[in-house]
Amino acid sequence: METRPDIMSMTLPELGDFVKSLGEPAFRAKQLFSWMHKGTPIDEMTNLSKTFREKLKAEADYRLPVIEKKFTSKLDGTVKYLFALNDGECVESVLMKYEHGNTICVSSQAGCRMGCKFCASTLAGRVRDLTPSEILGQVAVAARDSGERIHGIVMMGIGEPLDNYDNVIKFLRLVGDEMGLCIGMRHISLSTCGIVPGIIRLADEGIPVTLSVSLHAYDNEKRKTIMPIARKYHVDELLSACKYYFNKTGRRVSFEYTLISGKNDSMEDAAGLAALLKRGMGVPCHVNLIMLNEVDETGLQTVDRKSAHRFEEELKRLGQNATVRRRLGSDIDASCGQLRLSRNREAGE
Ligand code: SAH
Repeated sequence: METRPDIMSMTLPELGDFVKSLGEPAFRAKQLFSWMHKGTPIDEMTNLSKTFREKLKAEADYRLPVIEKKFTSKLDGTVKYLFALNDGECVESVLMKYEHGNTICVSSQAGCRMGCKFCASTLAGRVRDLTPSEILGQVAVAARDSGERIHGIVMMGIGEPLDNYDNVIKFLRLVGDEMGLCIGMRHISLSTCGIVPGIIRLADEGIPVTLSVSLHAYDNEKRKTIMPIARKYHVDELLSACKYYFNKTGRRVSFEYTLISGKNDSMEDAAGLAALLKRGMGVPCHVNLIMLNEVDETGLQTVDRKSAHRFEEELKRLGQNATVRRRLGSDIDASCGQLRLSRNREAGE
């Protein structure tokens, strides 16, 4: 088992102490911090002495995620990475290129235990949480590999971020550090299936990321049939937490709603959703409509683009903001979870 300290998970003051313990002046910590956050191998940290680099190799655990597979969309330049972690586990990240900048979608756990019926990431359960450095490493390695500056992050990859709370918070603080990638909290979205205590804790954390909540149904009974988390937290309780988040941070909450044919895509569903948000939130919020990305094992079917737009129009007519999410990287199957699934299957797991 690895016993050396995981230095990329350290804050700058923590790294300062570590560097001092190796007999180096504390200012070296800033240099090291900034190299690591750019995904630089130790041998390429050119302003650090050879002796210090050798000490680091011996005394520290610094291993970046390794690109196992990489697919680039010919349609829009979206890049999907399958990263191998130190123990052979793997996760996915997707780098999306928008006019206003590059955004990366990162994973927070290897697998997921939330059990949402339509989702590929949860089929084999959760294996383990990712460390702060493993989440940060996805951003750093993708930035280095693509040679692009990354402006925004969405925590919408594999895993439930609020089920790995402490590591995710530490990652958010690290990625926002001005000596590192310096990505502002306003450019980060965290997506959750609706872990109520986690939302409340996050609201009080003082890191105003955009909160995205996966809703997928307006009615609690129906929501239970799609998302097991609804058995634990009633949708009314969930919306109270979202309202608290808005009041505390001033950030507009967005709701994700994946359209599944014959399940949650009727005009009654649209009306129910608009009414729920009016009643439960009563403050401005946004609905992101996602057309289900079909996963063979689930047997669930997607809707056509026309129905998705009809649903959107109905929400708007009822006074609820909504947009159908653009699909980037449709030629490389850019949604998360499927690549890890097929890789593990090939490995005979
Ligand atoms: N666990 C978090 C974040 C990961 S999923 C959450 O539940 O929000 C990111 C988003 O993708 C969620 O809204 C999720 O419901 C949605 N999603 C997962 N699988 C999907 C699929 N096959 N098709 C469409 N959306 C999917």
